[in-house]
Amino acid sequence: MQIVRTVAETRAALRALRSKGLTIGLVPTMGALHAGHLSLVRAAREQCDTVVVSIFVNPTQFGPKEDFSKYPRTFDADCELLEEEKVDVLFAPGVDEMYLSGSTTFVTVDEIGDRLDGASRPGHFRGVATVVAKLFHIVGPDKAYFGQKDAAQVAVLRRMVRDLNFPLEMVACPTVREPDGLAMSSRNRYLLPEDRTHALVLSRALFRTEERVADGTFAAQTLVDDAVTVLAAEPHVRLDYFRIVDPDTLLDVEDVCNGALIAVAAFVGSTRLIDNILIAPR
Ligand code: AMP
Repeated sequence: MQIVRTVAETRAALRALRSKGLTIGLVPTMGALHAGHLSLVRAAREQCDTVVVSIFVNPTQFGPKEDFSKYPRTFDADCELLEEEKVDVLFAPGVDEMYLSGSTTFVTVDEIGDRLDGASRPGHFRGVATVVAKLFHIVGPDKAYFGQKDAAQVAVLRRMVRDLNFPLEMVACPTVREPDGLAMSSRNRYLLPEDRTHALVLSRALFRTEERVADGTFAAQTLVDDAVTVLAAEPHVRLDYFRIVDPDTLLDVEDVCNGALIAVAAFVGSTRLIDNILIAPR
């Protein structure tokens, strides 16, 4: 695996491969890698000739009171995992390389970018869209891999790719979970053992909702009320949102008959966790 730190090195490394007609798959990450990230890498490995992973803890997507400085950074362990997955190129720039001093250009995905996590974390998706647009320009992938775990991010980036004519295919991969149902996340490292147990209420509420849909309850308000009751029974978890929305627009739906994204965000201690499930059209 070639580890590159600068934009120029990355372009040079990929130019030769592209000129041979090899396809490039990009997996953007913030590191602290787990099996969820590796599932994206494997999908890219299966579908593309060349796999590029980026590791960059992007300051512009963190709010002023969020966890940018304490976000887990495990670079050496990450490199070992990526070597095992036969990644070709790891792009791991510093902040000064990604954001030249005096940078004032940002990508804003209006409306969708202000919904769900965009509403709870103002400016978050502006930071995400900006850094991902930059990665797309730097790497020039044929396919880019993202986790359905961050469903709002997928919706925002799909819209950006469409609106700005990025010549690539967005691939969304299923959420990878721990055996007990907890969605894998780099932020799970923050959880104390008791938090870890409390955090299970998120996936429990989602799975219960899925079961109710399977049993024939389609009205969004009924499903939300029921799930909020489940969540409220766990006093150590502070709900941010539980919403049933259209997966493309992130707007609330009345019922799940045309398919829906059921998404939850909550604080467990000081750690904000998100999770979701997709409901297929009935
Ligand atoms: P992050 O490093 O948290 O920015 O995540 C990098 C990519 O991995 C994003 O596209 C995430 O959606 C994806 N990802 C994170 N956790 C999971 C998971 N549990 N299952 C599948 N993909 C994930």
